[in-house]
Amino acid sequence: MPTTTPKSQISTTPTEHSPWGASSYYRWKSSACPGSVRMSKGMPNIESEHARKGTFAHDKAANCLIHGELPKPDDFEDEEEFEAVMLYINAAFEAMKGATFVKVEEKFDLFSVYPGLYGTSDLIIYHEKEKLLQVWDYKHGKGIPVQVENNDQLKYYGLGALLKTGVKCETIELVICQPRCPHPDGPIRKWRIGIMDLLEFSADLADDARITENPDATLRSGDHCRFCPAAPTCPQLSLVAVQSAQQEFSPQFSYDPKKLSLTLELLPAIESWVKSVKEFAYHEANQGREIPGYKLVPKRATRKWKDEETVEDKLLMEFGLSYQDVTKTSLRSPAQIESLLTKEQKEALLELTVKESSGTKLVPMSDKTPPAKPAVETEFTVVNPLLD
Ligand code: SF4
Repeated sequence: MPTTTPKSQISTTPTEHSPWGASSYYRWKSSACPGSVRMSKGMPNIESEHARKGTFAHDKAANCLIHGELPKPDDFEDEEEFEAVMLYINAAFEAMKGATFVKVEEKFDLFSVYPGLYGTSDLIIYHEKEKLLQVWDYKHGKGIPVQVENNDQLKYYGLGALLKTGVKCETIELVICQPRCPHPDGPIRKWRIGIMDLLEFSADLADDARITENPDATLRSGDHCRFCPAAPTCPQLSLVAVQSAQQEFSPQFSYDPKKLSLTLELLPAIESWVKSVKEFAYHEANQGREIPGYKLVPKRATRKWKDEETVEDKLLMEFGLSYQDVTKTSLRSPAQIESLLTKEQKEALLELTVKESSGTKLVPMSDKTPPAKPAVETEFTVVNPLLD
């Protein structure tokens, strides 16, 4: 449970994201797509549903870490999201015990490394006695498990924390908290980097930023195209999408597991292209710009009560229905109940809960999750019609 927060601060005036932001460094670095910075200029910042949920979760967590105001289960659309934010908050408060200082949502710049580099760290914790500077990054998403080792985004934040705080330490501990995406190393993963390695990283960062300013900086498609603001209009991405579709649907197509594997590798980029084109087109139409052959129409209307209280009274008093007829109650989730219990009660609750996976999913071999058995007998049972 939250106690008092050591010296902390929050930025209340959001600024534009840096074109060389930490969270997009994986995309604009020279080994990925340095041309993406040029291509993204002037593109609208269309906030996805995932991004909106992520910002909301970050705000709730920051508010709690600074003011001790606990989020409520009903703040979230989904119990799992509440559970994730609470896991981060509890772990952060634990790490903050005895800290010399804590900074929440701390803005920093790396102008001494390269002009235009800046960002915001979710959480910085410094323990002077241990000379330990910890930099936390909360990931609300559940799509892609993020590795902490050698993570460029975290190194960027680590550098920012070091320069902003000016503390003297030999190593920095980078921490990822990603509760909603299963990872064999658990939801909180830590990795330490020495100051000399971090300074070496800053030289690479500056080189990579400089390369993006070249008017001919390379456009290279790949996994990093997901979430690229330039995706809807990117010639390189549309070329890859069209070429793979042509190959997949060509008359000479024959089943080849290796080709299937290559196509699977391209799918994230293609999917993100399709999604971003749709979102971009919708955004353009909403701005009143004409798209030949398309128009905006209202979504199908669904019925809802005008005033729930009046309806309930009417149904009970005039229509003669019972309370059970007109309302429904259901047991709250373990996470929601847990937030109402004492420590001892929470421990007792463990016996009443069970964790069940909802099935299997196909992931690249690089994923650290141990493999599951395929459901061969249910999915692909061979039926010989002659034996029937
Ligand atoms: S969509 Fe992909 S290839 Fe195009 S600019 Fe963005 S990252 Fe580069």
